[in-house]
Amino acid sequence: MKTIAVIGGGWYGCHIALSLKQKGQYYVTLYEAQSDIFHGCSGKFGIRLHAGPHYPRSKKTRESCQNHFYNFHDIYSDLLIKHEYSVYGLGIEDVDEYPSKVTESQFKLVCKECDQYQEIDIKEWNYQHLISACTVYEPSIAVGKRLREKFKKYLKEADVNLICNYKVQKIEKINNNKLQINTEHIFDHVINCTYYQDLTIDPILPFNIEVVYQPSLALYYEDNEKSCKDDAFVELT
Ligand SMILES: Cc1cc2nc3c(=O)[nH]c(=O)nc-3n(C[C@H](O)[C@H](O)[C@H](O)COP(=O)(O)OP(=O)(O)OC[C@H]3O[C@@H](n4cnc5c(N)ncnc54)[C@H](O)[C@@H]3O)c2cc1C
Repeated sequence: MKTIAVIGGGWYGCHIALSLKQKGQYYVTLYEAQSDIFHGCSGKFGIRLHAGPHYPRSKKTRESCQNHFYNFHDIYSDLLIKHEYSVYGLGIEDVDEYPSKVTESQFKLVCKECDQYQEIDIKEWNYQHLISACTVYEPSIAVGKRLREKFKKYLKEADVNLICNYKVQKIEKINNNKLQINTEHIFDHVINCTYYQDLTIDPILPFNIEVVYQPSLALYYEDNEKSCKDDAFVELT
């Protein structure tokens, strides 16, 4: 059987390692630099299982979300958090006070592509600075301990060899087209899931990977009113 190393225990690495092992044709080792899986981006920010309307200006991206939404939904139903409401709002202005680039009819059209679309009366709900709002079916994905514990169980059941506290410093091509990690472990294939890091010394790919940083802002919500409806809110501009 072929041996495969997957580097990085985030969503990409964990899912790929699990799927490959389930095929039954490979030995799979998953390396994670930190003391546990899902301590990178996926353990903190995998908030929404995108149904599409987050991308009102890209039909292609929406189609990609729609094509895979129920796949993910069915495979990882244990890791989904369903909401009574998942509200999308169309802002009057963006953060720079420019008018929204999305029209009301465009906004409604893309939201209607989702299941359980329902228009919301923004006056009744007392939403300020919005042109329009609606709720759609869009659950959240678990983060933190819940995600970590469940996924470790899946990996164990599938017999994926998980090695934490192991930072891969380099990947080299050696004889017979094999690949060597940190000059000590040899594999037939290596899959790099370290979130935009190139670990190769002599580039294996015939092109250079361009690394682009995108500034982003994370908001932390605490529900102080326990009587509050369990909902998720996203504002589009
Ligand atoms: C603010 C914010 C909000 C987001 N909201 C959403 C959302 O609502 N829905 C959605 O689908 N996506 C969302 N995303 C995007 C999503 O979180 C990422 O696309 C996804 O988590 C990336 O997963 P990953 O496995 O590639 O990376 P990561 O989760 O970062 O995993 C990479 C892993 O590799 C390990 N690693 C790194 N270097 C090494 C090494 N040398 N050796 C061994 N291990 C190593 C790291 O420790 C880490 O565990 C959001 C992102 C951000 C920043």
